[in-house]
Amino acid sequence: MNLMYKSTRDSSKKVTASEAILKGLSDDGGLFVPESVPKLTLPLGDFAKLSYQETAYEVMKLFFTDFTEEELKNCINNAYDAKFDTENITELKKVGNASYLELYHGATIAFKDMALSILPHLLTTSAKKNNITDKIIILTATSGDTGKAALAGFADVEGTGIIVFYPKGGVSKVQEKQMVTQKGDNCKVVGITGNFDDAQTGVKNMFNNKELAAKLSSKGYRFSSANSINIGRLIPQVVYYVYAYSRLLKNGEIKEGDKVNFVVPTGNFGNILAAYFAKNMGIPVNKLICASNENKVLFDFFETGVYDRNREFILTKSPSMDILISSNLERLIYLIAGEDSDKNKAFMEALTTDGKYEITEDMKAQLEGFVGGYASEADTLAEIKKVYTENSYVMDTHTAVASSVYRAYREKTGDETVSVIASTASPYKFATSVMGAIDDKYVGEDDFLLIDKLEEVSGMPIPNAVKGLKDAEVLHDIVCETADMQKTVESILNV
Ligand SMILES: *Cc1c(COP(=O)(O)O)cnc(C)c1O
Repeated sequence: MNLMYKSTRDSSKKVTASEAILKGLSDDGGLFVPESVPKLTLPLGDFAKLSYQETAYEVMKLFFTDFTEEELKNCINNAYDAKFDTENITELKKVGNASYLELYHGATIAFKDMALSILPHLLTTSAKKNNITDKIIILTATSGDTGKAALAGFADVEGTGIIVFYPKGGVSKVQEKQMVTQKGDNCKVVGITGNFDDAQTGVKNMFNNKELAAKLSSKGYRFSSANSINIGRLIPQVVYYVYAYSRLLKNGEIKEGDKVNFVVPTGNFGNILAAYFAKNMGIPVNKLICASNENKVLFDFFETGVYDRNREFILTKSPSMDILISSNLERLIYLIAGEDSDKNKAFMEALTTDGKYEITEDMKAQLEGFVGGYASEADTLAEIKKVYTENSYVMDTHTAVASSVYRAYREKTGDETVSVIASTASPYKFATSVMGAIDDKYVGEDDFLLIDKLEEVSGMPIPNAVKGLKDAEVLHDIVCETADMQKTVESILNV
């Protein structure tokens, strides 16, 4: 029997995994969730013997039940290969009191590669399975890292095109350069004059625009999403939490059944939701620690039960977490609302009209397994310096938010449970901020000039993704007003 997926806004509709991957977002604006989260079918101890790819198969086969073994293994083997600079795909490094799960060893040196290197394969396989011949147009809003990872994943993949929107001035220099130099005939990159939330809202509006869909369809196009709302991105992220647990077992740091904490630097709530799914699959978890930067809408939510996006949007040095509408939280809200899609829909409508909602006491009680925390800009930079000075380990600003939140949590609670911090980007992606944190004299210097310095300081070789970037040719220079996003898409596709 196939595991079916329901929309968070209308649970009477059910689709297969491949249909959910193809659609991205449900027609009613909801997100797809599995009818139930499957339990792992191997004993935990057995995972310690599996490679990353084998772990990926064991986890994903339980969610993508309409894929054949051959189809799924093909997707996995095409994704997790030599594009990663370590055979293990991710590395788990013990530093001080925590283990850092380095999720940045892929093509674009950020954790988005973990999912976006497999999504194009899941998507094209899904299209074949459903006899779709339309060209699939990926429409994506990015706060910096998704864009490049999606471009790298989809570039020149037959039967697909990709258009990426990013907030002009709201991403790092390296992030922007990575995107606007992207090669591939099917790739377009557009800067908008608004912030990330504006970009995401613009993209959502296009997905929900039935007139536009009809126009596209008549020209043989259909939209799909590479944003973290796609179930084809969420599920591949569950894998590395299972893998991290199995490496701790293998290293003898825990015994089978011991609980661990996962600390996740959070923006759109995709990464931490994947950890929650891993927990529901049977990975023993004590706390899921949700770390925010100064855009601490999630911290406030976990404290009060009120989600309120009516606040100033702050540009921080962890730009991939500068988000006030955490899209994936909708899946958690739906689950803790007892899978009541009407109730969830009412919250989401309140978020659209009033910019806020408050969950019930019953729902709040179900958030017990989560802890919210946040780090100020000063905390974040101090954390980079502290860990570098004490442990000679260099981390990026996003990871530092989580590391700082974890330090404060451990001091406050005395909880000494073995803890894994998701390390979501290479320090090379944010060289100026990282070097500026380590030594004042680098503050404000150019990202590109600091790359060699960073190599000296960190002892980590310069990743291929950064080499040669400075002199790469700019291939994309479209900038548009937020209000003109749809017009821009229509002109690119000539519809
Ligand atoms: C996207 C991103 C995050 C936030 O992840 P979510 O799944 O959106 O919560 C954190 N760090 C980095 C480096 C990212 O690129």
